Amino acid sequence: MGTVNRREWLTRTGAVMGAAVATTGAEARGEGDLRGETMQGQEPAPKPDASLKLVDYQPKSMLHVPVTVVEKAAFPVIDMHTHLTVRNAQANARQSRRAMPPEDLLKVMDARNIRTMVNLTGGQGERLAGNIAGLDRAHPGRFLTFTEPTWTEAQRPDYAKWQADQFAAAKTAGAMGVKVLKTLGLFLRDKDAAGKDGALVKVDDPRFDPMWEQAGALGFPVAIHVGDPEAFFLPTDRYNERYEELANHPDWSFHGKDFPAFKAVLEARDRVFKRHPKTTFVALHVGHWAENLPAVGEMLDTYKNVHIEIGARIGELGRQPRQSRKFFDKYQDRIMFGTDAVPNGTETPQQIFGLDLYQIYYRFLQTEDEYFDYAPAPVPPQGRWQIYGIGLPEPILKKVYLDNALRALPRHTAP
Ligand SMILES: [Zn+2]
Repeated sequence: MGTVNRREWLTRTGAVMGAAVATTGAEARGEGDLRGETMQGQEPAPKPDASLKLVDYQPKSMLHVPVTVVEKAAFPVIDMHTHLTVRNAQANARQSRRAMPPEDLLKVMDARNIRTMVNLTGGQGERLAGNIAGLDRAHPGRFLTFTEPTWTEAQRPDYAKWQADQFAAAKTAGAMGVKVLKTLGLFLRDKDAAGKDGALVKVDDPRFDPMWEQAGALGFPVAIHVGDPEAFFLPTDRYNERYEELANHPDWSFHGKDFPAFKAVLEARDRVFKRHPKTTFVALHVGHWAENLPAVGEMLDTYKNVHIEIGARIGELGRQPRQSRKFFDKYQDRIMFGTDAVPNGTETPQQIFGLDLYQIYYRFLQTEDEYFDYAPAPVPPQGRWQIYGIGLPEPILKKVYLDNALRALPRHTAP
């Protein structure tokens, strides 16, 4: 007699009776099954160690499903959301550290059909000029650089005019838009008379109204990120679906202290969208609420000056593939491709610039593959789930990869 595994034996003896789910549940609890009993001639299987730590758990999917390798995007791509240059903290805040030489960036871009990368964190003044010289001017059409507001000056009495002048100078220097980091709403604080940190500055603080207006007048789209994943505003406990991520990065939690509630941040943002209808906003990370596409749709229906981008959120979009597919159908003229790519580091695998990253995005957008990793990492870094492709048709792909970004960047000329 050959080896009979336990399930086969149970099935033969009628112990399973087709009730696979019920049986599995009973097995898991170790109730009423034959665990511990020895079949004739067979040693009992060693009991698995149920105290395996979550950090050590790396399950491999046993699904036999199609794997489609998409080497190149179906159309030339504008990656609307990258961070190619970072402030050089060690040396001089007026300089940037370029995380990867442009030649190395271009190799990946050419291999993956990326026409243009938008470098959002270009900075201001000398740093901005240096970034534009090294990227935009050195490789025309392949790189576009955005400027950023100077929050450290937000306390000065003439801030509105001062910042407006800075934006005008940035445009002359060649900047293509403005990037607003989540600093606004979560970190930026007013100072008291002694220079000590006071209350958090609200996203819709009226002192910034002239700045939003000026961006619109200059033809600068405003790529804005406020808030963060909804789970980051909840306790880091056993019920938090991003527990491991928050445990790895405790400083990413916005729960407690005097942090605003998640919805309060979005409501303040919406008041900015409403007050500045002539300014084009690109609400990054799927409008900051990829977990709630109906709410993002409602926001897009309400504010026609707002577009969205998908960077670092295919983990969310891909775990709700049917709802995502309908969302892309309905808002196909308002969604831009982006990745939030950073060309160095290991902390955020879902963002590490390289051949792997783009292949995953293309697989999600172009195929109907099932149950695959949303990031090149041994454990899904943003939550323990897998994603499904949404197989967009070519007309929608062309808009998402290229045309929608081109409309938001009217001063950009093709390479
Ligand atoms: Zn980003």
